[in-house]
Amino acid sequence: MFKTPRDVPFRCSCGTITGTLRGASPAIGNHTECFCKDCRAAEVYSGQPDTPSVKIFQTTPDRIVFDQGADQLAVFSFGETNLLRWHASCCGSVIGNTLRNPKIAFVGIRTTLLTDPDTIGPVTTKAFLQTANGKSQHKGMARFVWGVFTRMAAARVTGRWKDTPFFNTETLKPVRDVQVVPKAKRAEITAQLR
Ligand SMILES: [Zn+2]
Ligand SMILES: [Zn+2]
Repeated sequence: MFKTPRDVPFRCSCGTITGTLRGASPAIGNHTECFCKDCRAAEVYSGQPDTPSVKIFQTTPDRIVFDQGADQLAVFSFGETNLLRWHASCCGSVIGNTLRNPKIAFVGIRTTLLTDPDTIGPVTTKAFLQTANGKSQHKGMARFVWGVFTRMAAARVTGRWKDTPFFNTETLKPVRDVQVVPKAKRAEITAQLR
């Protein structure tokens, strides 16, 4: 399926935060459906309903530009070294996630934000699928790993990793203070998940 890359607007549910996914096409990332408890807990922690899975488009942060309302961005994490999970403090929309090291150019943006999700094509990776025996498995992971690795490596070599709205690339710190969710709060949320 060939699609011409184009810039796709995104917005939080209340419209305070708006931005653009630049040059969106299936070729610039992985459209992943993640079934893991962390992603689900992140939705609930942000004030969203529990959902069996979340759809995320994983690409490099230079593709993401905030046009308006970036002061409403907030970030939390389920541990001192866990993924950074970004959401909108205005309405609780989940924006996406990044790693803690900005030199590893990676962002997963929630596809619900995109005004035209068709531009990124269908889901190609399923992560942490629960099987009948209670184990989890992945589908499409080889493509996923290769895609993430090659895009990150290219961003590192070219210096493109410095083009990120999520970090101060001088200090290598996130642009917001990270709120680490207390373990007890996390346990309470996990207990609520269906
Ligand atoms: Zn997940
Ligand atoms: Zn909002």
